Order: sequence, then C-alpha cells, then structure tokens
Amino acid sequence: MSQRVLLVEDDRVLRSSLREALSVEGYDVRTAASLADARAQLQHCPAGEPIELVLLDLGLPDGDGQALLAELRHSGSTPVIVVSAREAEGQKIRLLDSGADDYLVKPFGIGELLARMRVALRRRGHHSEPALLHYQHGPLSVDLKTRRVLLGNADMHLTPTEYALLARLVRQAGQVVTHRQLLADVWGAEHTEQTHYLRLYMGQLRAKLEVNSAEPQHLLTEPGVGYRLAEPDNND
Ligand code: CA
Repeated sequence: MSQRVLLVEDDRVLRSSLREALSVEGYDVRTAASLADARAQLQHCPAGEPIELVLLDLGLPDGDGQALLAELRHSGSTPVIVVSAREAEGQKIRLLDSGADDYLVKPFGIGELLARMRVALRRRGHHSEPALLHYQHGPLSVDLKTRRVLLGNADMHLTPTEYALLARLVRQAGQVVTHRQLLADVWGAEHTEQTHYLRLYMGQLRAKLEVNSAEPQHLLTEPGVGYRLAEPDNND
C-alpha cells in the first residue's frame, strides 16, 4: 500500500517535480502551497487514511513552516522532514530540537530525499515494530542486545562511553542527532555544552571503526549540527 505524503511547498515548479518523482517511487503524494492549505489537508484526510509523512518548506506565503511543525508535534508523531533553502546551522538545530525528523537544504538530490524519507517512515510510521536492535552497514555491525560490535569478523572492543555513543546513534540510524541530544543522552543533561567530549569520543570511535577516519563511511559529520550514522543496509 502506498504511503501518504503531504508535500508543503509554494514553489510551483519544485512542487510538481517532487510530486512526480515521489509518485514514480510509489508514494501517494498530496500537495499544499501554503500553511492554510496544509492545515486543511491534514484536517480533512479521510478516517483511516492519515498523512504518514510531511515534507515541509519553511518560507510559505502565509507564514513560516515552523508554525506547522509545532502544531504537528503538539498533536501527534507524524514525521516531518524540513526542506528549505535556509542553511544556517542554528536554524537546523532549532528545527531538529523542536521535533523535525530531518532537514534537507535545497538543492538536494532525489536519492537523498528518498533515503531520509525511508528512515523517517521506518522510525515513526511503524509503532508496533521494535526499535532497531541490529545495525548493519557494510562491514560494521552492532547488536544492541548482545552489545557486540563487529567490523568484518573482528570483535571490536569499545569503552563503555564509546559504546554508549555508538548505541545512541544506532537507535536513530540514518538520522541526524544533534550535539546537544548526544551529550544529554550519553553524558547527562548537565553536560550539553561539553562538545569537546563528543569530538574526543567520536575521534576514538572513528579510529576503531572507520578504514580511514578522515573520510568516515559510517560515522558521518553534519557540520555544526551533529552526527549521523549511515543509513543501515536492508532498510525494508
Ligand atoms: Ca518557499
């Protein structure tokens, strides 16, 4: 069954090209060109056919997409991916902290958008499924049940903090996690400003898990925002 996506975008050309591209991929795409239009579509979707993902532009003719993000977070857990030309780091962090699932800066490739959509839908769309307990990406595998980390066939020995950081990223694999979220969850709420902890431990993790820690394939940097563990293989 195709998944229902609401695309909120006032740029007519981008809206129709995205609708086309996503329809080809099998999504059921609804579109809105303004906040008012988006609210109407969200309110009036037939019972049993809720919108499963929102792609949200920020600069809209009747206001800022952030207002809709706040309303969606208040009313439920529909995943939201912000798609915007604004790329200020502070803004990305604010949006992620206020509940956006991810953020794409225009222009972006359709492949990248589809990957982010799969991740967001997997995380939020299937409440009955257990959270990801086993992560596999290329030679790296992490099993959260047994706390085992393998690189190829080699057992990797991580310190408790290195493991906690990796496990936190695995739980949100494929999505960006902000510095603040990582620090709060691994070190505690009182340490959210200690970004040097993160740099240090990320460096150690990369030294152990990446072939070339200068060009990481698993532990990816989102400059100024946070880190992203590469999308796992087998994302069905
Ligand atoms: Ca716009």
